[in-house]
Amino acid sequence: QGVLYIVATPIGNLDDLSSRAVSVLNGVDVVAAEDTRHSGRLLQHLGLHKRLIALHDHNERDRAGSLLQELEAGRSVALISDAGTPLISDPGYVLVREARSRGLKVSPIPGACALVAALSAAGLPTDRFLFVGFLPAKRSGRRAALEQQVRETATLVFYESPHRILDAVSDIAAVFGEEREIVLGRELTKTFETFYSGSVAEVLATLEADPHGTKGEFVVMIHGAEPVTSDDDAGALDVDRLLKLLLPELP
Ligand code: SAM
Repeated sequence: QGVLYIVATPIGNLDDLSSRAVSVLNGVDVVAAEDTRHSGRLLQHLGLHKRLIALHDHNERDRAGSLLQELEAGRSVALISDAGTPLISDPGYVLVREARSRGLKVSPIPGACALVAALSAAGLPTDRFLFVGFLPAKRSGRRAALEQQVRETATLVFYESPHRILDAVSDIAAVFGEEREIVLGRELTKTFETFYSGSVAEVLATLEADPHGTKGEFVVMIHGAEPVTSDDDAGALDVDRLLKLLLPELP
């Protein structure tokens, strides 16, 4: 049986491809890629000529079947995505799950991942974090998704596309308040890598003032909520109880 390798590729800087990743890509029979044109260029840059199969969100179920056949026939497959680690807000889940359920060997070749790169340099607590993927594209859905996390004490991490970053940060201000600490990691590992940090209000003002501020790719990180102490709880209960007592008295 062949091995399914899950190979991380760079998120910007091509030197972030590990030498192990290159030798695995060199050794496999098939490369399954999210976008064969995009990954074709990476393989070309490495001087590798490989059979490329497209595996993206819209054909994953079909393609997973033929890739599993390749593996069962003893051929090895490398799965790569357009950038970073496959399956992290990228295709591959159906293939990996099915490969595992058939008892096939699945092996990760670790490397770049935007959320880990961003967190490692943001200066926010990293002992507990919650990765929430992409926020919904529409404002109402986005606010609802943010509201669900408002009391989360772990650092929150989101991916956001450049054309929605201003809307997303202003929704964060509306939901979390302007004082919550936030860090944006933009264009990580690339020429214009920038970290914006401060209160939500400060970061929003910086983004609005900088014409290039909203260009490129972003990781959004929000400081977790302060944990509610038992004293606060008791206080909150008292207020609740008081309100219940007072309500019937109100005109
Ligand atoms: N699989 C990738 C990974 O391991 O990070 C993520 C793929 S997801 C489709 C693309 C999103 O990741 C972008 O919209 C952005 O939020 C984030 N991202 C990718 N590259 C980035 C970079 N160089 N700087 C900042 N964010 C990046």
